[in-house]
Amino acid sequence: MKPLFDTFLFGGDWNPEQWPEETWERDIEMLEDAHINEATINVFSWTLLQPGEDTYDFTMLDRIVALLVKHRFNIVFATGTAALPAWMVREHPEIIRTTFEGKRHVFGGRHNFCPNSAYFRTVSGKLAGALAERYAGTPGLAAWHIGNEYGGGGGLCYCEACAAAFRDWLKAKYGSVEALNKAWCANFWSHTIVDWADVVPPVGYGDGIGSDWDPRKCVVSGLLIDYRRFQNESQLACFTNERDAVRRFDAATPITTNLMGTFKDLDYFTWGREMDVVSWDNYPGMGMPASRVAMNHDLMRAVGGGKPFMLMEQTPNQQNWFPYCKVKRPGEVAALSWQAVAHGADTVQFFQMRQSIGGCERFHGAVIAHDGTEDSRVFRETAALGEALGKVAPRIMGSKVRARVAVMFDWESYWSLEGCVGPTAGFAYPEEVHRFYRAFNRRNIAVDIIPSTTSAAELERYSVVAAPALIMVKPGVAEAVETYVRGGGRFITGYMSGIHDEHDLVIPGGYPGPFRALAGVWAEEIDAIAPGETIPVRFGGAVDDKSAVAGDSGAVSEASSHCCGKCATGNAADTADTKSDASGEIVASIMHLEGARVLATYGGDEFYAGTPAVTANVCGEGETYYVGTPLDEAGMDVLIQPIVDAAGLEPTTTPDGVEIAERYADDGRTFTFVINLTDREQHVTLPALAGAADLLANGRTIAAGNTLAPYQVIVAER
Ligand SMILES: [Zn+2]
Repeated sequence: MKPLFDTFLFGGDWNPEQWPEETWERDIEMLEDAHINEATINVFSWTLLQPGEDTYDFTMLDRIVALLVKHRFNIVFATGTAALPAWMVREHPEIIRTTFEGKRHVFGGRHNFCPNSAYFRTVSGKLAGALAERYAGTPGLAAWHIGNEYGGGGGLCYCEACAAAFRDWLKAKYGSVEALNKAWCANFWSHTIVDWADVVPPVGYGDGIGSDWDPRKCVVSGLLIDYRRFQNESQLACFTNERDAVRRFDAATPITTNLMGTFKDLDYFTWGREMDVVSWDNYPGMGMPASRVAMNHDLMRAVGGGKPFMLMEQTPNQQNWFPYCKVKRPGEVAALSWQAVAHGADTVQFFQMRQSIGGCERFHGAVIAHDGTEDSRVFRETAALGEALGKVAPRIMGSKVRARVAVMFDWESYWSLEGCVGPTAGFAYPEEVHRFYRAFNRRNIAVDIIPSTTSAAELERYSVVAAPALIMVKPGVAEAVETYVRGGGRFITGYMSGIHDEHDLVIPGGYPGPFRALAGVWAEEIDAIAPGETIPVRFGGAVDDKSAVAGDSGAVSEASSHCCGKCATGNAADTADTKSDASGEIVASIMHLEGARVLATYGGDEFYAGTPAVTANVCGEGETYYVGTPLDEAGMDVLIQPIVDAAGLEPTTTPDGVEIAERYADDGRTFTFVINLTDREQHVTLPALAGAADLLANGRTIAAGNTLAPYQVIVAER
């Protein structure tokens, strides 16, 4: 596809308003020395731009823009509305949000406007429009950047304006209190609503259970799910309000806002539909596996419909807000940057260009650090990265990732799973998605993240589709999955899937509800496993060897005598050729076979030892795999490898932390990225790349066997 930008943008947030004007041009000259060609400006300048309700002052911004134009910089232009001016909160206290505990904020912080404040919508829209009117057509203007990290650090708002708007939202959705009561199962604990005025947001001193940072659970789960949907739409309406104001004066420049990966509070699939290009901020913490970072990139690419995205922010060195912040190791930032490109990024941008001397981000890394010179490791590495990106990345722009494996990510299942009061508090939804994603990623098999509502026709593009912990099955989802499987697809699901409908009500008739016939199992009970404990899981035979486990004809052991008598048993598993020992954690689904065959059984001495832990069921031309417990990596490997083989996927083995990924251009060129994301030398065998040129090593020929230096990256074009 045609790239969105003419240039590969390399740069990021520049905040000259924190510095004397006489330092600005020297900054720009230094940034040019680092091959930086883009500045993101005006992210937090609202008070300077608007010192009073009827006063705009663009004089400083005019001078900043003029300097960037003089130096032919590309500009990502923020609307500056992410931090409220103090005067605005003083004069209109209702503009700022109210916490989970009912306390209205005073001035301070950022990202904390009430998303249903009519005054906020008015003033933010006016400012965005005024900026677009003044600066549309500025040479180098690459993109408009609305607000900043919506919802980040702010949480949901529980004020009276939000409560009133929520009641209107519910009226429009349900039409009658009877329909609302049914959807919320509201006769529970006498929560029956007789008047819309009875509806109260899920606050901590009402039905909410959790904290301001994580309003996790609720007495009436449908209330929390609906409140989250409503708050998501409210925040999104703030974005589209400013977007539309900009669009009135600038018909063509792409408009975006920076997202945050698996951030819980916003359903980014709904946001992606409103953005010209998705951009996001990548801040992996200490110890985050490279595969988890890869998953975030793939999720953000999915939110943008599979198109290349912008890496709007990452740090050139350490972050500052984690409790402990390591400096990035030599080469690490470059490796992370190329990993982003490998997964679809068409820009590499940082927060920030010059390190602040005040404020709570003063220890956050920057291209120009507190020493203020080019004589720093970080500056030199940034310059080397900029030079390499400048040479190689433009030819990659517009190319796309192709995947034959899809993993579902569903924000409402995220809210629902973590909102369950029982059977365990042990789940973090993104980590369950990652458990399945990683099994493919560590085999260097490309993965598309997809919404759960993907149509059957779209599912058919994939050889394998996984739905980890898809607890909420929305209308049409089970039907699309069944069509996919009957047509020959391989569907992997399991524990905690298929339990709730779109109202967060349990689907009666036994788990996994709408997937039960497809999976050929009934999960009768869900046992919780204590933190730090595991349950043994014994695989027997290969996935496609239907005789390896006795299945329906197996004898019933004493250990599984609670069972229906048709299920596979410890005796049966013992006779099989046990290939591997694995373990499960968090929960164990206690299952009965209803046509499925057994791939693994539970070990240990629980009363359900010997019963099915992992199953497979043929349906039409395809097959459904049901994983009863969150498997460790050994278990995921035994499960996934035969599926990968049967699907004809081509796995490549690399050491942990070494990733191979590809992008494909419309004209037939393939770009292959080999990225060592570890701080150790790693050996990789690359027969497919042997003889190709490494674009990052001046075209040096790639050998079949390679020792990669710590954080070394190879990019080949074929
Ligand atoms: Zn509010």
